[in-house]
Amino acid sequence: MTFEELGIAPEIEQAIRVMGFEKPLPIQEKIIPILLQRNTDIIGLAQTGTGKTAAFGIPIVQQTDVRVNKPQVVILSPTRELCVQITKDLTNYAVNTHGLKILAVYGGAGIVPQMNALKQGVHVIVATPGRLIDLINRKVANLSSVYRVVLDEADEMLNMGFADDLNTILEQVPEDRNTLLFSATMPTEIRKIASRYMRNPEEVLIGKRNASAENVKHLLYTVHARDKYLALKRIADFYPKIYGIVFCRTRLETQEIADKLIQDGYSADSLHGDLSQPMRDTVMQKFRVRNIQLLVATDVAARGLDVNDLTHVIHYSLPDDHEIYTHRSGRTGRVGKDGISIAITHLREKYSVKKIEDHLHIRFERMKIPTGKEICEKQLFNLVDKMEHVEMENDAIDDFLPVIYKKLEWLSKEEVIKRFVSVEFNRFLNYYQDADELTEPVEQRERGRDHDKVRQPRGKDRHSRDSDGTAEKGYTRIFISLGKMDGLVPAGLIEHINHNMPTVKVPVGRIDLLQKFSFFEVKSSYARQVVEQLKDTRYRGSRIDVSIAQGKGAMKEGGENKKSFAPRFDRRSDKPKKRRY
Ligand code: ADP
Ligand code: MG
Repeated sequence: MTFEELGIAPEIEQAIRVMGFEKPLPIQEKIIPILLQRNTDIIGLAQTGTGKTAAFGIPIVQQTDVRVNKPQVVILSPTRELCVQITKDLTNYAVNTHGLKILAVYGGAGIVPQMNALKQGVHVIVATPGRLIDLINRKVANLSSVYRVVLDEADEMLNMGFADDLNTILEQVPEDRNTLLFSATMPTEIRKIASRYMRNPEEVLIGKRNASAENVKHLLYTVHARDKYLALKRIADFYPKIYGIVFCRTRLETQEIADKLIQDGYSADSLHGDLSQPMRDTVMQKFRVRNIQLLVATDVAARGLDVNDLTHVIHYSLPDDHEIYTHRSGRTGRVGKDGISIAITHLREKYSVKKIEDHLHIRFERMKIPTGKEICEKQLFNLVDKMEHVEMENDAIDDFLPVIYKKLEWLSKEEVIKRFVSVEFNRFLNYYQDADELTEPVEQRERGRDHDKVRQPRGKDRHSRDSDGTAEKGYTRIFISLGKMDGLVPAGLIEHINHNMPTVKVPVGRIDLLQKFSFFEVKSSYARQVVEQLKDTRYRGSRIDVSIAQGKGAMKEGGENKKSFAPRFDRRSDKPKKRRY
């Protein structure tokens, strides 16, 4: 099938040909004719890299009426980077389409220039949901003439807490619009949005649902929690040509691992939401051109990065959600290439591993951490291979050779090789000569040991839920606006306290994790200081609210809708606010 046969106008066909598109990808073949002919609502289920942008973008360029100087299409996307990318792509499709104005608007950048651009008139708005709402509220984005709304990466927008914003926006666009929803996965939340705002949507499925790419191998390394970093290093050493992303859970962890890798001489850098935009742009650029071999990143930050042909994806922490696993590992194993997705886990994560295997119908290959000897062998081979294939600048080097030959005259050929290899190789040899082999954890022994790097909460029953909500003597109960839904776990909470109070050792008592918020106890003399230090910090992207808890019954989960139990708890802050990426 050719683009022409799909009904694409000649000037657009010419534009995409220049971009290197020769024939339509499957999702384009399915979606473009539907939009051009029938204008049906569509749910497009497809992995990243399948060509969704052109599937919705080409019809948009073709069908938007440039004579009407009003926004006619709204494309929503989770991050600034994706907005920019989509805008760039659409602009490219439209190089021969005169007068079509496409504008990207997103948070984290000045709103005034965006307002001015909107006031001048645009036809297509590509927006992050939060910013678009701001612009609607300021009355500069008028959606009354919108004929099509696209929700791109819808699952990711929900993950980032944009559900309410999506609802608000969808309420504002004319009811007879055409709605397109694209997502790599289909959680029930998305089904809900679809059934509420879409009319008889046609489902277009590309590839298997929830399945990871076929040519990705899934490897599992199980180590003691304390050995995770060492294991990561060994894996990186075992694949000398690795070009991949190391996924971490938190910004803190991301920074820590990246710092350690850099310190240990790896070509690595970090990407997470605490970095300024220019810093993130620089890191992404360096990674794109392969100046960096290992990018340590949070899921959300990595989203904005349009690099998909990785040799490896490493899960330094397994995601709670198997869909995130799909997203991550989908970045390796692109068409025609094999990819490797590596999970570094400890025994406690056995359940998460199983869940991922069951949901995605994949099977992790259980691996043994490579021994020092195996790594040395691999590195050595790589080095020799490099030497064998090195390009020789004959003329330039010829002048120096006579002196060098003379100097090395007394050595045999074997001797020369050995010495040259040693020059490069000693770093590994020295390290692995002295390194202990990593032992494999045994199930019983491991129990209770994986928090060994964080301070342990006092008391045996720190997770029991039978308390009446009052603190133990000498301890003060503190409310925190994070719960299980934010991925809060006791170790994470303690780590967060330690991180924000590096100079003191705060005794932590019982921790009660609830769905949307939690309580923990600290020694009373530290309570004020803890509240002070933790207030407005961020945990996995969410700004934290903390206060001294008041009253009994604050424990009860059902109480979370009542206002009374925690005076500083503000409903607005209950929704995840992860949009500052
Ligand atoms: P998705 O949004 O599904 O993740 P994109 O739309 O970003 O994927 O497309 C992935 C890559 O494929 C981009 O680099 C894009 O330029 C390229 N691409 C899209 N359509 C075609 C095509 N018909 N032929 C060749 N390359 C294409
Ligand atoms: Mg896309």
